[in-house]
Amino acid sequence: MRVLGIEGTAWCASAALYDAETDSVLIESDAYEPDSGGIHPREAAEHMSEAIPEVVDRVLSAAEAEHGPDAVDAIAFSRGPGLGPCLRIVGTAARSLAGTLDVPLVGVNHMVAHLEIGRHQSGFDNPVCLNASGANAHLLGYHDGRYRVLGETMDAGVGNAIDKFTRHVGWSHPGGPKVEAAAAEFAAAAGGSGDDSKGDGGTADANLLDLPYVVKGMDFSFSGISSAANDAADNGVPVEEICFSLQEHVFAMLAEVSERALSLTGADELVLGGGVAQNDRLREMLAAMCEARGADFHAPEPRFLRDNAGMIAVLGAKMAAAGDTIPIAESAVDPNFRPDQVPVTWRDGESV
Ligand code: ATP
Repeated sequence: MRVLGIEGTAWCASAALYDAETDSVLIESDAYEPDSGGIHPREAAEHMSEAIPEVVDRVLSAAEAEHGPDAVDAIAFSRGPGLGPCLRIVGTAARSLAGTLDVPLVGVNHMVAHLEIGRHQSGFDNPVCLNASGANAHLLGYHDGRYRVLGETMDAGVGNAIDKFTRHVGWSHPGGPKVEAAAAEFAAAAGGSGDDSKGDGGTADANLLDLPYVVKGMDFSFSGISSAANDAADNGVPVEEICFSLQEHVFAMLAEVSERALSLTGADELVLGGGVAQNDRLREMLAAMCEARGADFHAPEPRFLRDNAGMIAVLGAKMAAAGDTIPIAESAVDPNFRPDQVPVTWRDGESV
């Protein structure tokens, strides 16, 4: 089976072809980069309307050049969660393509796709998943036909919380990679050897700022730490020092709740998803936590972590193989589509 996936929940206009026979994925993406500030929904939607036809055309042309006119067996699209104006453009493109090619349509939950790409690649049987993305942060675990939300942010998404600080100090979007670079610079200047055996980020005498660390049960909160980081910058604390402490606090919160989720469910596998998961320090902390408790850990390669249509096409293929397609008339997008709303139809058979 070959599935053409389309993604466009916020900033990344992306199309992909997944060939289940060879387990290969071709991805074409075009990112929206705001001139200033964060993601503006209207500008992002304008970007989608220009870029989605182009990335779809590139992938479809490549597919038809290799496999002929019947190259695509189904169209999968990100149905939500995401920005409504962007989702509606993706939904319209997917419906018209499915109609034109006369193939089934598959509506994919973007957050379940972040999880499933890690499960697919790792071959893990029943992992807990930490989704650390821009607009979201949650732990998912499978039980009785659905992915249950074991813990989640009570306010901002983890990437958005970091980006809020970088906007405050005048850095362009996205802020996450810049915070990672500045934190690494601070750690190196503080005399870090890169050896994280003491769990201090590789700095022997790391000087952590006192920022809010908010974990309540299985949930976490990031809005307080963004404001405290902004205040520290206003009070003249060097920005590299704030970036280091911001990362250490935020990622420790994520690691703590991930460990608790593994412990509560008895799972011994953790997969990571979402754009923030591209951060080396987060992956290092989670890998250390998993190693300490004898659990396996998998983080997909970066092109499958940030928003991308590859993960939509891969999960779309599993859903299509399970007969989980939708009539065009029932394919409305849902900006608040939660992962636990999705009946998991594809895990019994598994093959595509
Ligand atoms: P969602 O998947 O919830 O819809 P999203 O659409 O914002 O989120 P993602 O691609 O998952 O998209 O994540 C984007 C976020 O990842 C941004 O907030 C960005 O700052 C952050 N990010 C990217 N690279 C890094 C990095 N190296 N370290 C930390 N954060 C990063």
